[in-house]
Amino acid sequence: MSTPATYGDYRSVPDRDVEDGAVDHNHDDLAPPTRWERVRDTTTHIINVLFIPLLVVLSVVIIVTLAILLAVRPHTGTPGTTPTHPGAPITIPPGAHGGKWDQVKLPEFIRPIHYDLDFATLIDGEFNSTFEGHVVIRLNVTQATDFVVVHAVELNLTDVTIADSSKADQPALAPIRHEIHTGKQYHVFVFPETLAPADTYLLRVPYAGTLTRDLRGYYLAKYADPATGDAKWLATTQFEPTDARRAFPCFDQPDHKATFAITMHTQPQFHALSNMKLVETDMSIPNEDQDFTKNPRAKSYKFAPTPKMSTYLIAFIVSEFEPTGATTKRGVSVAVWTQPGQTHMGTYAAKAAAEILDFYEELLQIEYPLPKLDLIAVPDFAAGAMENWGLVTYRDTALLIGPSSAPNNRQRVATVIAHELAHQWFGNFVTMKWWDDLWLNEGFATFMEFLGANATEPTFELDAQFYRSEQVRAQLADASVHTHPIHANVADPAEIETLFDAISYAKGGSILRMVQHHLESNGHSFFAGVTKYLRAHAYGNAESKDLWTALSTPEIDVNALVAAWIHEPGYPIVTVEQVNATHLKLSQERFLNFGADKPKAHVNWQIPFSFAIYSNRTGTPEPLGHEHTVLLTESETIVALEGAALAPLAKKEHRFIKPNLGQYGLYRFAIPEAMTETAAEWLVQAPTFLAPLDRAGLIEDSLAAVVAGRTEKLAAALNLFQFLSAEETYPVWGAALSRLGGVHALIRLDPELVAYRQVVTRLLDAAVERIGWTETNEDESTWHVRALLRTELLGFASSIGHEPTIAMAKSLFKKMVKHVPVDAGLDVITKKLKIVPALVPVVVNTAVRTGGDNEYLSVEARFRAAKLINDALVFLTALSTAQAPHLVARSAALALSPAVRSQDTSRFLAQTAGSAVSSTLVFDYLREHWDAYLAQFGQGGAFSSGVEIWETIAGNAYSTAARDRVEAVGKELDANFKQGVAKGLESATAAAKWRAVYASQVVAWAHARLGEVAVAVE
Ligand SMILES: [Zn+2]
Repeated sequence: MSTPATYGDYRSVPDRDVEDGAVDHNHDDLAPPTRWERVRDTTTHIINVLFIPLLVVLSVVIIVTLAILLAVRPHTGTPGTTPTHPGAPITIPPGAHGGKWDQVKLPEFIRPIHYDLDFATLIDGEFNSTFEGHVVIRLNVTQATDFVVVHAVELNLTDVTIADSSKADQPALAPIRHEIHTGKQYHVFVFPETLAPADTYLLRVPYAGTLTRDLRGYYLAKYADPATGDAKWLATTQFEPTDARRAFPCFDQPDHKATFAITMHTQPQFHALSNMKLVETDMSIPNEDQDFTKNPRAKSYKFAPTPKMSTYLIAFIVSEFEPTGATTKRGVSVAVWTQPGQTHMGTYAAKAAAEILDFYEELLQIEYPLPKLDLIAVPDFAAGAMENWGLVTYRDTALLIGPSSAPNNRQRVATVIAHELAHQWFGNFVTMKWWDDLWLNEGFATFMEFLGANATEPTFELDAQFYRSEQVRAQLADASVHTHPIHANVADPAEIETLFDAISYAKGGSILRMVQHHLESNGHSFFAGVTKYLRAHAYGNAESKDLWTALSTPEIDVNALVAAWIHEPGYPIVTVEQVNATHLKLSQERFLNFGADKPKAHVNWQIPFSFAIYSNRTGTPEPLGHEHTVLLTESETIVALEGAALAPLAKKEHRFIKPNLGQYGLYRFAIPEAMTETAAEWLVQAPTFLAPLDRAGLIEDSLAAVVAGRTEKLAAALNLFQFLSAEETYPVWGAALSRLGGVHALIRLDPELVAYRQVVTRLLDAAVERIGWTETNEDESTWHVRALLRTELLGFASSIGHEPTIAMAKSLFKKMVKHVPVDAGLDVITKKLKIVPALVPVVVNTAVRTGGDNEYLSVEARFRAAKLINDALVFLTALSTAQAPHLVARSAALALSPAVRSQDTSRFLAQTAGSAVSSTLVFDYLREHWDAYLAQFGQGGAFSSGVEIWETIAGNAYSTAARDRVEAVGKELDANFKQGVAKGLESATAAAKWRAVYASQVVAWAHARLGEVAVAVE
C-alpha cells in the first residue's frame, strides 16, 4: 500500500513542530480500528449470543426468499452433496478458550489449493446494497482432523458442506458444530467424521453480506454523476491486511496462498473487474420480467484463474467506470479506469505505468506474471493506493492529473504508480510469510518507487529527493522513545494495522538503499542478489533472512550487517573526534529526541561509515586525498589515516571532515564544533565545494544535534544557514527550510522571536527574487525541480512573514476574487493570474492566514464549487490556516460535515490544529464532538483514525497548562488515540525543556546576525 496524499506540505511551515516527528506529514495509511468499531464488535457479539439460533433460521428463510426474488441460479453442487442444516453456531468470545482452534495463526495442516468464487452484487443505495454467493475451496489436509477453520467477519455462512471429490459415492458432510471465534475472526466447523489426509477435499460455503461504507472489505464508494450531480455508487475492495474475510470466507493469511477462479454477476448497468483477464461474459438477462436494473445476475463475468497468490491481494470492482489504455513493449495491456467523462485525466498514468512496468522487467529480469494491468481511481479510499495483483486501486488524487496539474501532483502520481507496481514483484510475486515482515513489502516498494518513477520522469531528480522524503522522515520518526523495531511481533488485526507506518516504509526503504550502496561500492551487484531472491521464492513466501542470504557475498555477510537495523528500535549517531594528526575516533550511540532517557542496553549497529577530508591550503576548500570507508561494528573505533592528514601545513589552513558522503547511510553524524564553523565559512566563500546532498546532510544533522540538545553552543550550527542566499538547489533548500521552520516552531511564542524571523527573511530575499512567481525560458531538464523549489520557497517565505511575498500573494488573491469565476479550476486561475499552478496554494493560504471573514468565505465558496478533487483540496487546505478563533471553529465543523470526504477529514482536522492557538480550539471542538467523529469514522473512514489529530494537538500544546489538559483528556481515549497523545506530548514536553535551555541562544544569535548586517550597511 502507499500512504495517503500529502496535499498540505507547503502550508504554514513555521506553525508546526517539524522536529521530533511531532507532525509526520506522511502519516500511516492504516491505523487500529476506531472505538466505534470495537463497540460494534461487542454489539455483534451480544447479538450472536442471544439470537444466533433465531438468526440462523431467519437467514435461511431470507436467503431462500432472496434467491427466488433475485433469480439466483440454483447451484449444481458437488456430486453426492446432501445439503444439511449445520449445527447451531456457538460464539466463543475473545480471550476464551475451549474451542477447537483459537491460535493466532491458522492450522498448518489444512491448506487451501484453489478457490472457485461465484457471487452476485446488488448495488442499491447506501443502505440496501448486498452481495451473496458461494465459495468452493479445494483443501489439502495433511493430518487427520475433524474440524476445518476459515476466516469470516460479518458474513452469513449457511449450509456448509465438505466432500472428498475423489470419492464420488460418498455423501458430503455437514458440520455437527459451528463455532464462531469473534476475537480471532474464525469460523470452526466440526464434522461428524474425521477427515483423513488427502488433497481432494472440497469445502463449500454459501455466504451473504452487506456492502458497507467502511472503506474496507467489499464496500461502497460514492461519486457524483457529472451530468445530474446525483449520487452514483460503485462496489470495490480493500483487503490488506486482514479484510478479505469480510468479502468471502477464506484462509486469510499471507502464507496460505492458492489459485482463485472468480465469477461475478452484476446488474445490467454495471461491469465487473478483477485481478485477471475476462475469459467469458454472459450478457443474456435471465428472468426479464423482473425489475431489470435491480437484477444482480443480469450479467456474468468469468475471469481466468489467478496464479498462486495471497488473499489480501484479491480485488473485485463493480462500477460504471471507463478505461483509457496503453501497452508495454512486451504487449501487456495497461488500462486506467476513471469516472465516466474523466478518462483524459488517466492518460498520463497509463503511459507512466507502461513505462515503469517495462523498466522493472528489465531491471529485475523477471516478467510481470499477469496478462493485463488495471489501475482504477476509487473516489473513497483509505490508503493512498493498494497493489492488488493486476487490479491496483488508487485514491483519485494519486492517479489522475490534467495537463495543468501542479508538479508535486504529477510527481505523486508517478511515484505512487511506481510504488504499487514494485509490489507486483515485492509482495505479490514473493510475499512476506507473516505480517512481522511487512516492512519487506513496504520497504522494498518505497525504495523502488524512486527508481521506477525515475524511469519515466528522469528530470524529477528523485534519487536526490529520497534523502529528505524517506531517510530524514525515518530518522524523525525513529528518534522517539515510542518507536519500534522494523521487525515487530504482531498478532491481531489491530496490531498488524499499526505497522503501516514510517518505520516499515521509510526506514525499511532507507536500509535497503544503504545496503545497495554498500554492496555496489564494494563491486557487487545488488540487483543480481534481488533477482536470485525473487526467483527462489516465486509464487511463494519469504522472510527477511532469505533476502539477506541472497544478497550476501563471500566478503559481505548482509545478515550481520543489517541485524541491529532490523531488530533494534532507533538508529545511531556517529561522533567524530580528532585524536591527533593521524587518528580519528568514531563512536556510536542511539540518537534520541531531546530529554529522552538514555537506553539501558547499548546497541552496536554495523555502520558502513564514509567520509572525506577537506582543506583550504590552496586558498579554496577542496578534498584532500581520496574518500574513506570503514565498517563500524564496535561502540568506539580508532581510524588511522595515511600521512599526517589532519595536520594543517600552513597557519591559515583548516580541515573539515564530511561524513556520510552522498547521505547513503541511515545514521546521523556529529563533527567537532570548530569544523562546523569552518564549513559555515567555506560555504559562504564557495557554496558548491560540497555536493548538494552533502550540503543538505550537513545542515540536517548539525541542526538535528542542536534540537536534540547534543551541542552546548548553537551558533556554529545556525551559522550554516548563512550561505543560503547563494543556494540554488532543491535538496539543500528542502533540508534548510525544514530546519529553519523547526527552530521557529520551537520558540514560536517567544516575544524575541521577531529577530529570528528577520534574519530568516533576509536569508530568503535573494532566492525569492531569483526564483520569482513566473517561469522565464527555463531549461526543461531542471523545470520540475525548480517548480518544486519555487512552491516550497514562496510558501515558506509567506508563512514566516517575508513581506514582499505576502504582498504579492495578497494582490494576486484580490485579482482572483475579482476576475475568476468561483467554480473555475486551478488551470483557469493560473492562466488569469499568469502564475504556475503550484503557486495557487501560496496565494490562497496567505490570503486566509493573514485575512479575515471575507477571505475565508471566498475560499470556502471555491472549495464547495470545485469540480476536481485536487482543486478542492487546495482550497480546503487553505481553510486550515485561518487564525481567528471563530474561523478555526468553522473549519473544525466543516471537517465533520458531508462537504469534506471522510478520507480527508482527519488530515484536515490535523492541519487545522497546526498552531499553538488553533490546536487548543480544535481540542475544545473535538471534546464536544468526539462521539460524532467516531460515528462518522465507523461509517466511512475506519482506517484514517484520529491518531494524527491527537498527535498534532498534543504536539502543539505550548504551555504546561495546555499539556496537562491534553494529558487528562488523553487518558480517556482508546489505545490508538492515546498513542497519538503520548507521541505529541513527548515532543511538546521536550520542546518546552529545550526552550528553557536554548531559546536565549537562538535570540542572541539572531541579534548578532542583524548587528553584522547593520555594520555592513553603515
Ligand atoms: Zn506499499
